[in-house]
Parts: sequence; structure tokens; C-alpha cells
Amino acid sequence: MIDFHSHLDLYQDSLKLLPMVSKRNIFTLVVTTSPRAWQVTSQRFSGYTNIKVALGLHPEIANKKANELKMLLADVAKVQFIGEIGLDGTPKNQEFFPLQKDIFLNVLAECEKQGGRIMSIHSRCAVNAVLDLLEEYPRSGTAILHWFSGTTNELQRAITMGCWFSVGPAMILGAKGRELIKLMPREKVLLETDGPFVTNGKLPIMPWETQGAISSLADIWSLNIDVVKAQLRNNLESLIS
Ligand SMILES: [Zn+2]
Repeated sequence: MIDFHSHLDLYQDSLKLLPMVSKRNIFTLVVTTSPRAWQVTSQRFSGYTNIKVALGLHPEIANKKANELKMLLADVAKVQFIGEIGLDGTPKNQEFFPLQKDIFLNVLAECEKQGGRIMSIHSRCAVNAVLDLLEEYPRSGTAILHWFSGTTNELQRAITMGCWFSVGPAMILGAKGRELIKLMPREKVLLETDGPFVTNGKLPIMPWETQGAISSLADIWSLNIDVVKAQLRNNLESLIS
């Protein structure tokens, strides 16, 4: 259906998967973890109008990839989508948190300079810090908080700021994730898998394996599956048109 946050470039045989992904999904956003990966992937994955490759620098590898920031900033002008960017405040990533912030704010500033971009954002254990920076760059574009795992207060703040959310099977499995989804504005929800980091049994989840998430949304919203699918399609259209 829709996968708005896939690391398709990190699957084995990703090139072989492309035709299937293009056929089974209306739209797939492939987020990259480094500017160099974007350069390679955007070329290798070209030729599919419904598979877009986002330019990113993942906060968890900020220290390894900081030297590619200049490259990223130069390429913002060429893309419609940015991701994966953001901040990760888990203890193991604290050491480089200031560096993550520096990278993130530079990307937001460049997006703002270029008239705004659609951004898939990581905010694990760092929601308020992410929102603080988004507030500093209000014209950086549309922020989609992927796999939101903050508190309900943080969620309320994000909603007030106009953020979108991409939710997937892994998030919907937990009671907390489901509670958060209940509070999200329905017209600002998209689907994601975050594969191959999310698995289905032993195998990486495939970008089209969002059926479980759709059924859960139907439960949470008390709607039938077709209405949920139509809602998600409309959301995507209003975001990217
Ligand atoms: Zn991701």
C-alpha cells in the first residue's frame, strides 16, 4: 500500500525487489542513512515514479558521517524528500548529541532556505529537542515524525505544531503505540515499515507488509478497512501534491 519510511537500500538484493515494491505499493519513500548512500541509491533506484529516495543522515551515525554534511547541504536543492534525519537521545548516543543537533539544525536551515521540504524525522528519546529545532526553523517544511515513541504531552506539542506521523506494524503491536495513535489527527497519519530493521519472524518486513497496521488502524479508528485505506491514500495525496 504505502510505506513512508523504508530502508530499502539496506535489503539484500534490493534492486531485485524494486519491481515488486513498485507494483505492490502506491508509494514508497526510501530513506537513506548518509548523503553518500543517497547519491548511490537515488541513481540505482531511478526509473520508478512511485519510489522516491530521501536524502538523509541518520542521527545514530552522526559521528561517522558528519564529514558528509556539506555534501548533504549541497544536495537539498535537488530533492523533494529529506530523511532520515533527526535526533536520538538514547544513552548510547548521548556522547554525540551536540553533533547530532548541529547536523539537524544545519539541514533544517538549508531546507528553509530552499523553500521547505518533506522530512522523515527520527525523534527517539529526543522529541522535545526535535520540536525545539523545528520551531526555530518554521519554514523548513513538513515534518513527519516516524515511529513516534514520546509521551502524550510531547505528542500534543507535535500535533499543535502541525507535525505528521508515520506508524507501522511494530509501533502498533504495543499498547503505548496504540494509545498514541488514538490521539493523532487521522488526516496526518501515514504508514511505514522501517524495514529491514523491523522483521516479520526472522525475515525483514517487506515494504508492502502493512496489512496488520491497516487492520489495527481500522480497530483504533472504528472504521472499515476500505475507509482506512482511502483515508491513508488521501493523506498521502494531500502531503505530496
Ligand atoms: Zn529508520
